Amino acid sequence: MSLFFVGQSSADPAHTPGGPCIQDDQNVSRSSVANYDDVVKSLAQIERTSKGMVTVESAGQSGEGRELLYATIGEGEDVFWLQARIHGGELHSTEAALQVLKYLTGGSPDAKLIRENLTVAVIPMYNPDGAEANIRQSTTPNRIDLNRDWENFAQPESRAFYDVWESLRPRLALDLHHMSSAPRVEGTDDLNQFQIGARSIDPSRMTAEQWLTNRQMAMVSVDALDKYGLANVAHYPLIDITNAALSRMLMGGTAPAGEQPVLQSPTKGAIFYEVRSVGQKSNGQLERLFTIPTMAVLTAAADGSLASYDISGYPGIPFATQGPCGEV
Ligand SMILES: [Zn+2]
Repeated sequence: MSLFFVGQSSADPAHTPGGPCIQDDQNVSRSSVANYDDVVKSLAQIERTSKGMVTVESAGQSGEGRELLYATIGEGEDVFWLQARIHGGELHSTEAALQVLKYLTGGSPDAKLIRENLTVAVIPMYNPDGAEANIRQSTTPNRIDLNRDWENFAQPESRAFYDVWESLRPRLALDLHHMSSAPRVEGTDDLNQFQIGARSIDPSRMTAEQWLTNRQMAMVSVDALDKYGLANVAHYPLIDITNAALSRMLMGGTAPAGEQPVLQSPTKGAIFYEVRSVGQKSNGQLERLFTIPTMAVLTAAADGSLASYDISGYPGIPFATQGPCGEV
C-alpha cells in the first residue's frame, strides 16, 4: 500500500524568489480540505475498518462544543504524540495526520513495526473551532492562540489535551504547522518550503537527552525529505516560547487550575514542522511534505535507530530570510 509514496516526487519547478504564497486576505478554496465533519467521519471509518487496532476517543469539548477527537493505535510501551492543526487556518496538516493514521492500520512492514513498538496518539484537529472559522486562534470563550496556552490553560482545548498528555505520557511528540513568512532559504533564491523546529524553547531549558532527541528527530525528518527531493528546507528561527504546548511537554511544571503539575516530564523529544501552503502545489504534494518526514521519525523511533541517529548535519541546516511571504 503506497499512500504517500505515489508518483514522482520532485522539488518545485522554477519560481519567483519569495513566492508564491498565500496571503492572509487571499481567498483559498477550502472545499477539498478536511473540515471538522470530515474528521469525524474519517476517524469513524478508520476505526471501523481497523479490526480493533484503532480506538477513537474524545478528550473533551471545544469552546463551541465540538468533540476533541484523537485516535490511538499500536501496542508499544512508548507513546508517540502526533498533533495537527492547533492553528485552525493551517489546512493540510489534518489530512496528513489522518493519512498517517490510516497507513498505520495497513499491512506494510513499517506500519507493523510501528504498531508493535509504539502506541501512536493522533490528534488530527486540535482546534476544530478555529479550523471551522479558518483562523489561527480558538473562537470562544477566548480568541487566543492555543499554542500559547499551556501556562494559563484559558481554553477548554488546552485543558483537555493536557489531560490526555498527562495520562498517555508520550515519550515523543510531533506538531504539524504551516508557515506564511520566511520566504527564502538564506543565501539562495530557493523558496523555503519546509521549516524544521527542533527548539521551541532554548536548549538550555531542556535536558541533554531532550535536546539530543530533538535534533535526532529533526535530522531524520530533514534526511527523509532530502532523500525524496521533496523540499527546500530551512531551520526555524531561534525562539524561546515557554507557553507553547511542545515547550511545556518538554519542561513540565504547569497544569490547569486544581491539578498537580508534572515535575519530571515523560516527553524526551518534541519538535514541529512548518510546511508552506502554496496554492499552486497540489494538496497531495503538501500532505507528503508532512507525511514523509513523520513516517520517517515514527519508523526510526520504532526500530530504535532514532536513539543513535547522526546529528552532525544539524548545525548546517540553513535559516530562512525573514519578513512576510512575498517580500523579497
Ligand atoms: Zn501554526
